[in-house]
Amino acid sequence: PYVVTENCIKCKYQDCVEVCPVDCFYEGENFLVINPDECIDCGVCEPECPAEAIFPDSEAIAGKWLEINRKFADLW
Ligand code: SF4
Repeated sequence: PYVVTENCIKCKYQDCVEVCPVDCFYEGENFLVINPDECIDCGVCEPECPAEAIFPDSEAIAGKWLEINRKFADLW
């Protein structure tokens, strides 16, 4: 799945939410998260993010963010 990382914090854009075909973005504490169990890995959101905060979980920068995304997505 794709994950939302640190650059999203306090970002007010929601361009990613609008393009996601499966609506798997959720509101975290102060940033958006992707539910990794719902993400279909389409990659559409990545170029839409003006903060460059979205990465595939295969990239090193995603690291701990996969679990953080899951944690906040599950709170909903
Ligand atoms: Fe949604 Fe596709 Fe982004 Fe996953 S990769 S969060 S399915 S837009």
